[in-house]
Amino acid sequence: RKAVIKITTGSQALDELLGGGIETNAITEAFGEFRSGKTQLAHTLCVCTQLPTNMGGGNGKVAFIDTEGTFRPDRIVPIAERFGMDPGAVLDNIIYARAYTYEHQYNLLLGLAAKMSEEPFRLLIVDSIIALFRVDFTGRGELADRQQKLAQMLSRLIKIAEEFNVAVYMTNQVIADPGGGVFISDPKKPAGGHVLAHAATIRLMFRKGKGEQRVCKSESINCSSIFLNKTHIFQITPGGIAD
Ligand code: ATP
Ligand code: MG
Repeated sequence: RKAVIKITTGSQALDELLGGGIETNAITEAFGEFRSGKTQLAHTLCVCTQLPTNMGGGNGKVAFIDTEGTFRPDRIVPIAERFGMDPGAVLDNIIYARAYTYEHQYNLLLGLAAKMSEEPFRLLIVDSIIALFRVDFTGRGELADRQQKLAQMLSRLIKIAEEFNVAVYMTNQVIADPGGGVFISDPKKPAGGHVLAHAATIRLMFRKGKGEQRVCKSESINCSSIFLNKTHIFQITPGGIAD
């Protein structure tokens, strides 16, 4: 069995919540409102994954599947500099692909698995896991079909995480919950229903705080973290996620 590696998020508070960082051989999901930092964490992880293991990294390459067109190579530069790495070399080790349909997204995963058997990857990002499903399956009558296709996508991700000892980081959107007439304190919940909830090893909820401050809470079902339900505060800085 391959040893699990923990990759730093750039924030000690977030790392503490995660028990050291995001884990290989596991799926980490971040959901939360717009601008809450899900994509910024993805960019930070693109760099941290390439750090040597004695610096909290995974010493490996990164695959980035972008379904929303929000990856910014320029953003990698100051983050790499913060960690004392050469930005050009860091960018060369990020395999990037833009997906336009959920089928395209699935086929990209198949292609990546072939690449991962040849080169040492330690992180696979899917930002976001659900966006294309919400575009490609609209009507109410399509929900069962959508959930079935989503389950297929997720089982493929789990297989990659386990087979190649890769950390999977996926982002998720929030949907308004009418709450069935019941007043609830937080009217937002993650999209994807039970299918998505059960795929994640650890589920992080992000929300905005003051200024560039962000608040994270773990909502893990499968994880035994003792930090569950404690809130942790991090910042979005030019150098990426930090305390
Ligand atoms: P969405 O649901 O829309 O995808 P998200 O959770 O992915 O949202 P991010 O794109 O990660 O949100 O966060 C965007 C925020 O990150 C910006 O609004 C800003 O506050 C912060 N940010 C982005 N770039 C920088 C930077 N260079 N320096 C500092 N903060 C930045
Ligand atoms: Mg985003």
